[in-house]
Amino acid sequence: MGRVRLLHYAENKNKNILYIMNKSFRIRNNYSLYEALNRKEKHGGNLIVFIMKPLETSKRNQQFFANHTKDLEEKLSLLSDQVKRLDWQDLWVQELSQYRGIVLDKAYLREDFSQVHKIVEVAKNQGISVLEVDSNVFQPALDVTDKEEYSAKTIRDKIWRLMLQPLVLMKEETHIGEQAAFDLLNQFIEEKLIHYEDANDPSKDYRSGLSPYLKYGFISPNVIYDIVVKTKKPGYESFLEELIVRRELAYNFVLFNKNYDKFDGMTYPWAYQTMQMHLHDPRAYLYEKEDYIHFKTHDPYFNAAMKEMVLFGRMHSYMRMYWAKKIIEWSPSYEFAYNLAIELNNEYFLDGNTPNGYTGVAWCFGKHDRAWIERPIFGKLRYMNDNGLKRKFDIEMYVKQINEEEKSINKK
Ligand SMILES: Cc1cc2nc3c(=O)[nH]c(=O)nc-3n(C[C@H](O)[C@H](O)[C@H](O)COP(=O)(O)OP(=O)(O)OC[C@H]3O[C@@H](n4cnc5c(N)ncnc54)[C@H](O)[C@@H]3O)c2cc1C
Repeated sequence: MGRVRLLHYAENKNKNILYIMNKSFRIRNNYSLYEALNRKEKHGGNLIVFIMKPLETSKRNQQFFANHTKDLEEKLSLLSDQVKRLDWQDLWVQELSQYRGIVLDKAYLREDFSQVHKIVEVAKNQGISVLEVDSNVFQPALDVTDKEEYSAKTIRDKIWRLMLQPLVLMKEETHIGEQAAFDLLNQFIEEKLIHYEDANDPSKDYRSGLSPYLKYGFISPNVIYDIVVKTKKPGYESFLEELIVRRELAYNFVLFNKNYDKFDGMTYPWAYQTMQMHLHDPRAYLYEKEDYIHFKTHDPYFNAAMKEMVLFGRMHSYMRMYWAKKIIEWSPSYEFAYNLAIELNNEYFLDGNTPNGYTGVAWCFGKHDRAWIERPIFGKLRYMNDNGLKRKFDIEMYVKQINEEEKSINKK
């Protein structure tokens, strides 16, 4: 099957191709762009590219996107005939009937599906073909499997067995967003990769920080893979397990589970059963969004994690697990906890609104995990507490680091 899928076929006499860049905001290893360029060559017309403004309400995320795509029009104009930046509402007033075909980046989330659906409807009315290209995953999701996978264990081999395909292709045209991702990646390889086995420690900065760059498709996971695998440094396999297996399991989840963003349906029957049994367990603390975003819980580690989220749009990956587990513990119901965790995740994280975000939160409710020993409130869901943080890490150091970072922005 490959990365390219025909969503609608129609014949017309036009020659020009339109690429609606809606998820892969880059040039190198942008398989959608390559497909559009091939079609342009085949039909002898022009290639027009529309750079779509992401559907984001967060000002910080809009700014991040704008800063990292400043030169994208200029770079794309070297390869295409016309480039325009558009809001989604402006797309519907464009004269699409002039095109032979439209190429799109594959949708995974509900809101993206809805835009693609509208484009296909317009194309049907106007007799234009539509192709979607699965450009932001290491292996095309529908080649990996045709069903929702149960866990990392069940998807892992299905991803790696497709390794025969060529990975890194041409167009060495780097734009600001990709360059920023390369800079992070190089620093990660030089200074952190060999420590990646200890990357769970929140007081150590051993993670790559690449997730926002992957979210906007500024860099391809295939390019990262290609660079990292050649280093053969200790830690590289663990890193690829996260970048490829965990991330692609998340894409599989949102693609095949139509309730990926709803409390009812996102996790397993055993998890719902255990939550039902413990719904009325007494809660020692009950908090709401306002307490969280003003760092007013009794737990200094949770508050520090919330500072990372609210002030900087990020959170250490181990603390993300702890964070969502505590929201479960301090909420009047599991559904309340789920909805609030998703809301905060999408509102504050630079890498929010992604398959990873929905999957990460669902994981805290048992998805892709197993049943554990029964406990109050959590039932058989995996339990995490502050003693675990104290036992495993220098967690006071984490709090100190975040407080210092907070002071430094307050001084500015
Ligand atoms: C409750 C909760 C919420 C989360 N929300 C998000 C979110 O909104 N957006 C997001 O991108 N990730 C989310 N994650 C997954 C993970 O925590 C982040 O991807 C990671 O912290 C990003 O930091 P990094 O780029 O430095 O990761 P690194 O450790 O450097 O990993 C490299 C890349 O691998 C992928 N990756 C790493 N861990 C995971 C994982 N557990 N699942 C899927 N992919 C992974 C990411 O794309 C990441 O950029 C969440 C996890 C949990 C438990």
